Amino acid sequence: MKILSVASEVFPLIKTGGLADVTGALPEALAALGVSVRTMLPGYPSVLARLPKKTKALHSYADLFGGKARIVAGTLDGLDLIVLDAPHLFDRPGGAYGDGGGADWPDNWRRFAAFSRAAADVASGAVGDLRPDIVHAHDWQAALTLAYLRYDERPSPPSVMTVHNLAFQGQFPASIFPELGLPPQAMALDGVEYFGGVGFLKAGLQAAQAITTVSPTYAQEIRTPEFGMGLDGLINLRAEHLHGILNGIDTGQWDPQTDPHLAETFSAKSLKARGKNRRAVEQRFGLDADASPLLCVVSRLTWQKGMDILAAELDAIAGLGARLAVLGSGDQGLEGALLAGAARHRGRIGVVVGYDEGLSHLLQGGADAILIPSRFEPCGLTQLYGLRYGCVPVVARTGGLADTVIDANHAALSAGVATGFQFAPGSGDALVGAVQRLCGVFADRGAWTAMQKQGMKADVSWQASARDYVALFRSLAA
Ligand code: ADP
Repeated sequence: MKILSVASEVFPLIKTGGLADVTGALPEALAALGVSVRTMLPGYPSVLARLPKKTKALHSYADLFGGKARIVAGTLDGLDLIVLDAPHLFDRPGGAYGDGGGADWPDNWRRFAAFSRAAADVASGAVGDLRPDIVHAHDWQAALTLAYLRYDERPSPPSVMTVHNLAFQGQFPASIFPELGLPPQAMALDGVEYFGGVGFLKAGLQAAQAITTVSPTYAQEIRTPEFGMGLDGLINLRAEHLHGILNGIDTGQWDPQTDPHLAETFSAKSLKARGKNRRAVEQRFGLDADASPLLCVVSRLTWQKGMDILAAELDAIAGLGARLAVLGSGDQGLEGALLAGAARHRGRIGVVVGYDEGLSHLLQGGADAILIPSRFEPCGLTQLYGLRYGCVPVVARTGGLADTVIDANHAALSAGVATGFQFAPGSGDALVGAVQRLCGVFADRGAWTAMQKQGMKADVSWQASARDYVALFRSLAA
């Protein structure tokens, strides 16, 4: 079976968050089950620079949304890629969606409509001969692919729309509609129209044969007004086609026994070796070297991630005797609040503002625990990395966090199955209460290492989830 995966990010070529980790790792896991994946990606400079100069075009557009474009194919980092080379849309400095300084490109609707138009052309076999058995679109940037396929004359393959985060919907004013190249009837309630404008993700959810999201709990949550972000009505209408499939992690990239970013590699049998990583974290974050619990955060600094809740509780966390190392970037107000906390608690709280893949690995390998106070979390990956690295996750009980961490309540501790701590989302008191419970277990070395080892035994690989995707693909292709 052949899948065309359409995504705006794929690790290691371009990444702003968990989406890239998923689209980067899933192809290999599916390959092991006999399913081959081609990934269609925009031609960002970082991608094109790595393709051979003379890569032959599968197709050329004289004018794709305002400029010349080509579709090229190549293999990079073990990924089979189809790349939309459209310099007028993607040859820009900065990140995938903006200038890198926090502002999104104003023409993102055009960039990802063009990308989706080209993906639909590949998927339907209109260009090249790469028609897949299933087209798999990820998030709003790829969602319009399914709308184009739906309104095209050519027969199209069955489709899956995966929602990695319902908060990002690609909503634009109705004035862009005439430029999308969709027929007039598409601007309708059962088409791309969304609250009087155009909704890219909405259009994909409407057109897809199957909808998936990245954990069973989030699949239920998005059916409620609280988490549905305005789309709960539509999602409920399509509930029989909705599936929650947990993300796995790339266990090759994230392996404490071989990880090149660690000061010292380790396994569940050699947890003492984490000590060197712990010292490296202390030095990098300017923290006191002592035996108190060392907590970390690796996160986008946003409201979704509960970083305002964390910032408000820094004094309480320091007051419990714990130390905290924060790696994050995002909202400048939150950066400021966290840096101010670090200034108040020198040696106890350290903050590094920025995006640093290597340092994120070192934190997982050196900190005792990772705090994830998200208000909502479709799946979350950092708790899975934490489990694999003996960095005990302390998580808000929501979405994929609720599905992957077993709370250290009395029953779970005495049965030896606890892997972390859960607390009620959205509450600073609950977060501090969980850190307090953590400090209690941490003081009992035997109980603590037992919990670390239990977490390290958890299957966080793609194996089980890849089987679920294959079952879904097969049911659609049948
Ligand atoms: P989201 O995709 O919502 O940001 P996830 O937990 O699914 O959240 O994925 C986040 C990914 O981004 C993880 O791989 C995490 O390690 C990484 N990450 C987040 N912030 C940083 C940062 N400041 N530096 C390095 N990696 C980061």
